[in-house]
Amino acid sequence: MVKQTEPVHILLVDDKPANLLALESLLESPEVVIIKATSGNEALGLLLEYDFALVLLDVQMPDMDGFETAELMRSNEKTRDIPIIFVTAISKEKQHIFKGYESGAVDYLFKPLDPHILISKVKVFMDLHRQRLWIEKTRRKLEATVGKLKQANRKILEQQKAVIEEERLKVLLQMAGATAHELNQPLTGLLGTIELLQMDRKAPDKLDAHIARIAEAGRRIAGIVKKIQVIQLADIQPYQIAAEHANADIPPLRTLSIEDSDKDFHVVESLVKAFGNLVLLRSKTLADGLALLKSNPVDLVLAGFYLPDGTGLDLLQRMHAEGIETPVIVITGKGDEMIAAQVIQAGAYDYLPKDQLSERSLGQAINNSLTKSRLKKESRKVMHQIAEMSIRDVLTGLYNRRYFYESLDREISRAGRTRSDMSFCMMDLDHFKSINDTMGHLAGDMVLAEFGNLLKEWIRQSDLACRYGGEEFAVILSDTDIHQAVGVCERFRETLGQRTFYYNQTPFHVTVSIGISSLAALTTTSGEMLVRAADEALYQAKKLGRNRIVMCQ
Ligand code: GH3
Ligand code: MG
Ligand code: MG
Repeated sequence: MVKQTEPVHILLVDDKPANLLALESLLESPEVVIIKATSGNEALGLLLEYDFALVLLDVQMPDMDGFETAELMRSNEKTRDIPIIFVTAISKEKQHIFKGYESGAVDYLFKPLDPHILISKVKVFMDLHRQRLWIEKTRRKLEATVGKLKQANRKILEQQKAVIEEERLKVLLQMAGATAHELNQPLTGLLGTIELLQMDRKAPDKLDAHIARIAEAGRRIAGIVKKIQVIQLADIQPYQIAAEHANADIPPLRTLSIEDSDKDFHVVESLVKAFGNLVLLRSKTLADGLALLKSNPVDLVLAGFYLPDGTGLDLLQRMHAEGIETPVIVITGKGDEMIAAQVIQAGAYDYLPKDQLSERSLGQAINNSLTKSRLKKESRKVMHQIAEMSIRDVLTGLYNRRYFYESLDREISRAGRTRSDMSFCMMDLDHFKSINDTMGHLAGDMVLAEFGNLLKEWIRQSDLACRYGGEEFAVILSDTDIHQAVGVCERFRETLGQRTFYYNQTPFHVTVSIGISSLAALTTTSGEMLVRAADEALYQAKKLGRNRIVMCQ
């Protein structure tokens, strides 16, 4: 164990130089550096200068004897603990006079000196000194390591905070990007119309149309802004666990402790009492914990690191593999900061050393973990909303034209795989312009939105309805041949025809013309052909008088 190889210093004190030389020759070795003093005074000076493992002190000296020298050594902080071997000619029977020194590291050698006893006694003190040096060095090293770990720990906490901020920022940036994209179109339209308006200032007959366009762009922008406000209010709310979980009206925080030691479990159990509205479950093994997590809703896991059937790292890995996203706080042993760093990297939301468990530290860790987990869920939800926004038409809630084209090839491939037919309908509202012209754009919008709802109700789960353009709609009917498609479209056309729309209490009716094509009818697998054929059929339906259905040729 003792790896100290540096020589140790030994001080020899005797008023007679001949005695000093005799002692020196007995003790000489590469492991020691011998320093000599011929008086108590000289010895005290040297003691302050070197770090001695041992002092061999002659008792009988003329000016200051060995006892007085020892007395003065004991009164100084630096020299107080240096071991002393008194060298004396006083017979063993008179040992009682040394009584005062028996408390410290003190030993005696009697003249005439026995070289073996001398060397063995000196060796004991040298070993002691080396051990002390080693312990001191190890302590300093440990202190430095602890310092470094504390720093690393601080960094982890900072990073955790940064991650939370980053997630917030990412969501906001994505929202900003998507919103900018969505706003761009009506804004460009608005600016273009204003330009036209300026050019047509002297043509009053055109002003109404321009103003209507401006009003429409304004409404679209207002719609987008309203959507943003809804997202912000619904999803970016400050989180307060303390108040929230003290409130008995909301469901309790279901917390699972995975801990085999009863003692450690009881500590956690007593601390979480402060949370009031919290239900504490317990598993004693990793396997039981995982089984419980899979079968029961749990909001939070508090896991010990060393479990009978694995470690906290195993738990995190298994949870990850099973897709269990419950936040985990790992409770590590004392001084296990290295483990702490590992578990954070493996996905733990936080860690707590056992010796630092307190109501406050546990509360903080729970708060942080729940906040982080909530932000993760929120950002996923908002990202999902943003993704939805980019494929949905705002007015009708149907898919937009881009998504329609994305889906068309997929649906055609599916039909190919299942060897089934697929029909495609292109629908266009009849004389829609006249609704706008007679009742205004808001009435037109209302009709479009209601038409969208009717379409959604009408189609099956496996079908896909999109707003293809202004008042044009595209519908993919999977596993449906062209005759079946005509049948369902006919019923839809009739339902729409019977429906009375109201705008400002004015009743009116809306009809639709539909062109239908199908893969089998065209013997094609091309989406483009499918759309073109349905479009041509729709054109025929309009030409034949509207409010009717035409199949592709
Ligand atoms: P047809 O029977 O031949 O289809 O005649 P129509 O009037 O329906 O067709 P036309 O293409 O002449 O006019 C379509 C109108 O739909 C023109 C356009 O201003 C209006 N429109 C397009 N998008 C919207 C919208 O989002 N809201 C409203 N209110 N009107 C829209
Ligand atoms: Mg139309
Ligand atoms: Mg049209």
